[in-house]
Amino acid sequence: MSTAVPGTTGVREVSVFGDAIAYFNEAAALLNLDPGIKAILTHPSRQIIFSIPFQRDNGSIEVYTGYRVQYNFARGPAKGGIRFHPGVTLDEVTALAFWMTWKCAVVDLPFGGGKGGVTCDPRTLSISEIERITRRYAAELVEVIGPDKDVPAPDVNTTPQHMAWIMDTYSMHHRMNVPGVVTGKPLEIGGSRGRVEATGRGVSIVALDEMARLGIDPKGATIVVQGFGNVGSIAAKMFVDAGCKVIGISDVTGAYVNTNGIDVNGAIAYAQEHHSLDGYRGGDKMSNQAMLEVPCDVLVPAALEKVLTVENAARVKTKLIVEGANGPTTPEADHLFARNGIAVIPDIVANAGGVTVSYFEWVQDRQGYFWKEAEVNERLRENLIDNFGVVRDLARARGTTYRTAAYMVAIDRVVRSLKARGVYA
Ligand code: GLU
Repeated sequence: MSTAVPGTTGVREVSVFGDAIAYFNEAAALLNLDPGIKAILTHPSRQIIFSIPFQRDNGSIEVYTGYRVQYNFARGPAKGGIRFHPGVTLDEVTALAFWMTWKCAVVDLPFGGGKGGVTCDPRTLSISEIERITRRYAAELVEVIGPDKDVPAPDVNTTPQHMAWIMDTYSMHHRMNVPGVVTGKPLEIGGSRGRVEATGRGVSIVALDEMARLGIDPKGATIVVQGFGNVGSIAAKMFVDAGCKVIGISDVTGAYVNTNGIDVNGAIAYAQEHHSLDGYRGGDKMSNQAMLEVPCDVLVPAALEKVLTVENAARVKTKLIVEGANGPTTPEADHLFARNGIAVIPDIVANAGGVTVSYFEWVQDRQGYFWKEAEVNERLRENLIDNFGVVRDLARARGTTYRTAAYMVAIDRVVRSLKARGVYA
């Protein structure tokens, strides 16, 4: 789809934000949204682009580009991760901030939506170079982030360590400790128990719930997981813990398939030791694209956007797709899955476990009182199952896909807040 991105310099041939808006429009049509409200919700509140000059370890200076998009504030402070990746663009960050708005609303958190990123390849940078980039990123945003303004978190290639640097930089500028400025922090400085595992745990919670409904017995159910970062690796582990057979895993180095079942704990240990799955011998190596077409009961794309497209959708042989990544399915592929009877649990529900526990972390930071891990996990399960239930009931009542129903629930909640507040003009 070729779509202009508000606030950007031009039209990109394939806009991530354009595809994201297509999903929104399907739900908006069923909600009979007022055109003025629709206009507000299809424009980002604020897009920030800035330079990040930093010194390489060899003394030379380079300049990277940083972004933060605060998409919507109707329900509360903006909320969403920061990604470090060579593919980061304003278009992508805008789409991701847009998705965060609906993700927070569909699981009923008192947050708006935001997202940030730096266009860089962390594999080419040392730890101290990454620290300097991260601290400069935080310093550039010091006026516009904060516990009641915008609360970043980890995303692709960022970790609790990055959050610690941001929290420290922000706190230094403010001359006081402000743990609630970011979530996904290390436990020692106000992180929440269960946050690291929360996204992968959430993926497995909603997947197992839907499998029960579809009559797929978890014992021996075959699962393919694309992506072996924080989301994919933890989700794979949780599927194994539930008795499932993970038959395919992958990362940037390729895919590894074993129909007898991958030893997921062994693969996690291997990836930790070697910093990737490169050279992993526990499965037959193939391309990421080929693995997406391996027959399985549940397919979990947990890497990046646009991996299930009109090119490969007809060859996908699964019963259920659970979107661990943000935006892995293009609208054309999504329509094909609906026609072929493949259920899809959309990203804004499937991977909302991370931001749900980010919310718990923010609450705990504000209270200065920290919960036991069992309590975090139980509240996470309850919130996801309850809100997925709302989505499922609406999908049934209106005869829509889960994705359209999820957008309808989320948009309706945001619109209620917007209407209650009115438009300040
Ligand atoms: N980056 C994660 C996401 O896309 C987590 C965001 C957060 O915890 O704020 O949902």
